[in-house]
Amino acid sequence: MKNLETRYKLLIEKVKQYIPNADADKIHQALECATDAHTGQKRKDGTDYVTHPIAVAEIIADMGLDTESVIAALLHDCIEDTRFVYEDIKNKFGEDVADIVEGVSKLTRMPYTSKEEEQIENLRKMFLAMGKDIRVIMIKIADRLHNMRTIQFQPPAKQREKSLETMEVYAPLAHRLGMQKIKWELEDRSLKCLDPVGYEEITEELERRRPEREEFLHHIKDRLMEHLNHAGIEAVVAGRVKHIYSIYRKMYTQHKDISEVYDLYAMRVIVDSVADCYNVLGFIHDIYRPIPGRFKDYISTPKPNMYQSLHTTVIGREGIPFEVQIRTHEMHQTAEYGIAAHWKYKSGVSGRDNLEEKLAWVRRLLENQQDVDGEDFIRSLKTEMFADEVYVFTPKGDVVSLPAGSTPIDFAYSIHSAVGNRMIGAKANGRIVQLDYILKNGEIVEVLTSNASHGPSRDWLKIAKSSEAKNKIKQWFKKECREENIQRGKEALAAELKRMEVHMSLQDLNEVLQSVSRRISFNTPDDMLASLGFGGITLNRVVNRIRDEIARSHKEQTGKDIIDKLVAQPKKQKSTSGVIVPGVENCMVKFARCCTPIPGDRIIGFITRGYGVSVHRMDCKNVTEAMKNADDLSRWIRVAWADEIKDRFQTSLQISAKDRMGIVADVATALSNLKIPVHLMDARSFEDGYAVMNVVMDLNGVDQLEYVVGKLRGIQGVIDIKRTLS
Ligand code: MN
Repeated sequence: MKNLETRYKLLIEKVKQYIPNADADKIHQALECATDAHTGQKRKDGTDYVTHPIAVAEIIADMGLDTESVIAALLHDCIEDTRFVYEDIKNKFGEDVADIVEGVSKLTRMPYTSKEEEQIENLRKMFLAMGKDIRVIMIKIADRLHNMRTIQFQPPAKQREKSLETMEVYAPLAHRLGMQKIKWELEDRSLKCLDPVGYEEITEELERRRPEREEFLHHIKDRLMEHLNHAGIEAVVAGRVKHIYSIYRKMYTQHKDISEVYDLYAMRVIVDSVADCYNVLGFIHDIYRPIPGRFKDYISTPKPNMYQSLHTTVIGREGIPFEVQIRTHEMHQTAEYGIAAHWKYKSGVSGRDNLEEKLAWVRRLLENQQDVDGEDFIRSLKTEMFADEVYVFTPKGDVVSLPAGSTPIDFAYSIHSAVGNRMIGAKANGRIVQLDYILKNGEIVEVLTSNASHGPSRDWLKIAKSSEAKNKIKQWFKKECREENIQRGKEALAAELKRMEVHMSLQDLNEVLQSVSRRISFNTPDDMLASLGFGGITLNRVVNRIRDEIARSHKEQTGKDIIDKLVAQPKKQKSTSGVIVPGVENCMVKFARCCTPIPGDRIIGFITRGYGVSVHRMDCKNVTEAMKNADDLSRWIRVAWADEIKDRFQTSLQISAKDRMGIVADVATALSNLKIPVHLMDARSFEDGYAVMNVVMDLNGVDQLEYVVGKLRGIQGVIDIKRTLS
C-alpha cells in the first residue's frame, strides 16, 4: 500500500504541474474509491488491480487533460468489474465523470473479432460515435496503451488478439486524432507480439548502429546550432530514430533492406515562430544538399489530423540522407498529443463555452479530413459522429449501420425481407423490447421470428425509419392478397418439383403437404403456400421438408443418394453473389470462412437458420463432419458458380517457410507485383527456425490461385503453401 501512496503523490504532482489549483482531495477520493472497488482483484502480473487505473490516470495526466478526465481514468473499470454503479459515481463525482466512465465501459464491452476491412471500418466509426465526449476515446486509448505495456503477462492467444485489435482499431484512431506519440507506441508494442522476429531484427540492428548514429546526429546538431546561434534563432534541436513499425512497414512494402530505408535518422528543430521555421529551413538547405521532391510544407497545408511541420530530407556526411522536421512549440504539442493538446486543461477557462470551443475543434478536424483523403474512413464520419447513423451488432457480432432513430423493424429488414416479414418481436442486449424501440449504438439486436407470423402490420410503416424497411413492407402489402399468394406458392412449388423430377400423384402430394405444413407449424397447407407466395418461407425450405418426407417413406433412399442428386448440374440462373442456388434468384449467399471457396472449387451449400446459404468447398472438413448429422442432411443443397462472376473472392493461404529476415516482405511484394489485393497478413515464427504466414487475399478463381501459388513457391525459403482449412 505504501507503493500506492507514492504512486498517488506522483500523480498529484504531475497534475499540479499544469493545474496548480487542482482538487487534490477529489482525486484522492477517486483513488480510494477505485482501491476499494478493486479490492482483492489482481492483474495478470500479480500486482493489485488498482495499479492499472492509476497507470491510466498517469497517461491522461501526461496528455495534460482536465481533473475530471484524471478522476474518470481512475474509475474507468469500476462500473465494468465491480459492484459500483453509475449512480454512485454521479453522486460522488458529478454527472460528467459518471458519463465518461460509463462511456468507457460501453466501449470495453464492445465485442471484437478480426473482420474484413469494411466491418473494421464500421467498428472504428461506431467507436467514435459512441464516445460522444472525446475524453471517453482518449481514456480508452490510454487504457489500451497501458494494457499493451503489460501485454507480456497475458497468454499468447490473448496477446495476439489484443495486438491485432490495437493495430486495426486503436492505432488508426490515435492517428486520426493526431496522437502520434501514442500511435507509435501502440504500433511498436503490437508488432512485437505479431512479428517478434521482424521486430527483434530491427531493434538489434538499430542498437548495433547506435554509436555510429549518435556520432552522426551529434555532428549535424553541432553544425546546425552554430549557424542558428549566429543568426540569433532560439531552437531546440534533437536527433531521433523512426519508430520500429514505420521502418518495418517501409521494408515490407518497398522491399528494402534496413540500410536502404530513407529517413532512418531524423533531426527535429523546434522554434518559437512560423517565420523561424522557414528561416531554419533556409539554413539547412544552405549547409546540406536537399533531395529533390522530399520537401513538404505541412505548415501551409496541415495534414488531415492537424499536424503541422516542415519536412525536408538532405544528404549528410558520407552521403547518408536524413530527414529534418521543423516546427513551432505549439505545432510540436499537436504533433505529439493531437486532439489531446487542444483538449488540454487551460486555467481560468472552463464550463460550456470552453466545451463548445473544443467541440468546434473536433468538427474542424473532421471536416478537414473530409476534403483531403477520399479513402479515409473519417470522410463520412462527421455526419455519423453527430448522429445520423446508429451502429448495432447482430448476435454473431457483425456490425450493421442504420439511420439514427432506427427500430428493430429496420434492423430485421436490413438482414432480409423474410426476416422482417416473419418478425414477432425483438431483443436488444438480451432484453425484450417493443418494436418501436429506438436502437442505440453498440446494442446487440436479435430478431424473434415465427413461421406462424401473419406478416407485417400496417403500423410498421409509421414505425420504420429506413426507406429500405418501408419499401419492403409496402412490397409485402402489395402481395398481401391471400388467394393470389396461395396460387403463386403452388406454381413455384410445382415448378420446382418438376425440375427436381419428383413425380407423384395429387393424392400423395396433398398428403405430403399436410404433414410438411404441420412440421413447419402452419395450420393448413394453404397457409404454407401463401407464406411461400409472399416470401415468408423459402422454396428451399419447403422442398427440403418434402424431400425429408419422401425419404422417410422410401427408407432405402440414403443421404448419399440425396447428395449425389444435389451435385448434379443445375440450370443457368442469375446471381449477384457469383453463386447460383437452384430455384432461388439472388439468394443470400455467404462464403464459409473455414474453407473460403473461390470459383473453380467444387462447392456445396448449407441452408443456415435465417442467414441465407453458406457455401463451402466440397473437401471442407466441416462439410464431412456436418454431414454425419442425419437431421441436417436435408439442409445441404447443390449450388454452382454462376457464368458471369464478379472478379473478387476472398480466400486465405497458409505459407510455411524457413524463417529469414525479409521473408514476409518478399511475400508481400510478390503479391503486390501480381496486383493481388491483400486484406490481412500475419506471420509467426517458431523456435525451430520456421515461420508460418497467413494471408487473406482476393482472387478471381482457382486458375489465378494456381498462378499465385506458383509465384510464391519461387520465393527463397518457402516450403509449403496450403489453402487454409479450419
Ligand atoms: Mn482498463
